[in-house]
Amino acid sequence: MSFTLHGLGVSSGIAIGRAMLMSHATLEVAHLTLAPRQVDKEIARFDAAVAAVKQELVQIKENTEHAPAELAAFIDIHTMFLEDSELTDKPREIIRERRCNAEWALVQQMEHLVQQFEDFDDPYLRERKFDVIQVVERVVKELLGHRGKASLKAAKTSRDDALIVVAHDLSPADTIAFKDHRFAAFITDVGGATSHTAILARSMAIPAVLGLENGRALIRDGEQLIVDGLRGVVIVNPDPRVLDEYRLRMEQIELEKSKLKRLKTARTESIDGLSIALHANIELPGDVPVALESGAEGVGLFRTEFLFLDRGDMPDEQEQFEAYKKVVKGMAGRPVTIRTFDLGADKDLNPEGTAGDRVKTNPALGRRAIRLSLAEPKMFQTQLRAILRASKFGPIKLLIPMLAHAHEIDQALAAVEQAKSSLRGEKIVFDENIPVGGMIEIPAAALAVGLFLRRLDFLSIGTNDLIQYTLAIDRADEQVAALYDPLHPAVLMLLAHTISSAEKADIPVSVCGELAGDPELTRLLLGMGLRCFSMHPSQILRVKSRILKSDVGELAPNVRKMLRLDEPAKLREALEKLNA
Ligand code: PEP
Ligand code: MG
Repeated sequence: MSFTLHGLGVSSGIAIGRAMLMSHATLEVAHLTLAPRQVDKEIARFDAAVAAVKQELVQIKENTEHAPAELAAFIDIHTMFLEDSELTDKPREIIRERRCNAEWALVQQMEHLVQQFEDFDDPYLRERKFDVIQVVERVVKELLGHRGKASLKAAKTSRDDALIVVAHDLSPADTIAFKDHRFAAFITDVGGATSHTAILARSMAIPAVLGLENGRALIRDGEQLIVDGLRGVVIVNPDPRVLDEYRLRMEQIELEKSKLKRLKTARTESIDGLSIALHANIELPGDVPVALESGAEGVGLFRTEFLFLDRGDMPDEQEQFEAYKKVVKGMAGRPVTIRTFDLGADKDLNPEGTAGDRVKTNPALGRRAIRLSLAEPKMFQTQLRAILRASKFGPIKLLIPMLAHAHEIDQALAAVEQAKSSLRGEKIVFDENIPVGGMIEIPAAALAVGLFLRRLDFLSIGTNDLIQYTLAIDRADEQVAALYDPLHPAVLMLLAHTISSAEKADIPVSVCGELAGDPELTRLLLGMGLRCFSMHPSQILRVKSRILKSDVGELAPNVRKMLRLDEPAKLREALEKLNA
């Protein structure tokens, strides 16, 4: 039966593919008691499923040669578990002795093992319980006859058979782990438009619809789906007419994309000759080729915390250095803005940790970003030294997130000095004049921007958090997503004040939040005086196309007038006129 679900379209585009339900398979197994004569057959069914999953893991490993090394390591651990008698012999015994069906026997044994792992003192061993769960989920899915992830390779060959991830929720850590899998789309029941999960979907340039509420409960594995990321619509089991319509739309989108590609080498200049810089936001060194492909003039935001978000531990100085160097060398002389870790909030390093490790009730207002870095001086020094060492290989700018207080800026600058001095002591070469800038993403920072302008070399406005904190809207909460309004007059005032203050002080300023990549807001930002935008590579050519058709001299007075408006309807009307 065909039906439609509505959610929050957070990454535009259209995907047609098959649903792949994420995890929780283990929670849903049937509990059956077998007749004695069924036992041998059930054990054989169990053995066949284990063998199939082993084969599946071998295939995954072969198909992911470009994936991070940790992925291969995870697969090895999973294979090892599958060969362990705890997961092979024990479930067989349970099937024979308790006459349970294979799925139920396996889940019982999993629960027993999880309990054992939870009792370990060693955090690494404790973490392994997740591997047990994942392995068991694979086997349960196989037993239930669901399509496994090993079919990824085959799925890639046919557009309509692409896989669409259906999940209740995806943490940024889950999402980053998918970067290599080339899923066709994401849909989740929860999540807001500027949650990091949404941001990652946009950075992968795949459609995503979040906040569907009941998607995971209503959609079955393998069902055909159309995901319309622009309208925030998911059509389950579409009828042929609707499919044809969407296939046509997909072709139109492809056509538009290939037209935009022609702009790649064009200079980014307004009609009246103003030169505008368009930079890329990246999460991993592997994003550099896409940034270059989109014609980015530099990296305006490298969110370094994604380097280790899906692995649970921090990379050491050498590993970080290698990652930063790779980006800088990859960008071949173009500037690279590296932001120090913005951990905390939804990007919790230890989501399953004990209460003490976990972020607090109001994580976005808690010990996040620079607050965490200053509280963990060793971690901060490691990162600063790694960034400074990479600065030998090309122009790096150092960006500090979530600053609010003058003393935080001073402490961060002192930490940079300390890292420099330790490197000098070791005779390690780095850029002595590395520019240090701050994110303006807390309303206090935007209002008291003078503090920042006097201390820092550049500013970058993080509108995702600036809007969240100005309007008191959790950016990851779909229940308040409709109130997350970039055009709220208070947001516009803070933006305009920051940009014009930086201009007066002759300090470079950019916007690196999601606003910068929205072509509908390009003219508004140009009119406020913004000359540097940083966004997902997938948006760069769209924004460029808008700039090429804009006369900044003409629109600036209109934007000034617009900023005097505080009626939302009038503001929207004025924006429409600006974009006409
Ligand atoms: C922002 O807050 O706008 C920003 C760019 O940083 P992040 O999205 O990583 O919080
Ligand atoms: Mg931010």
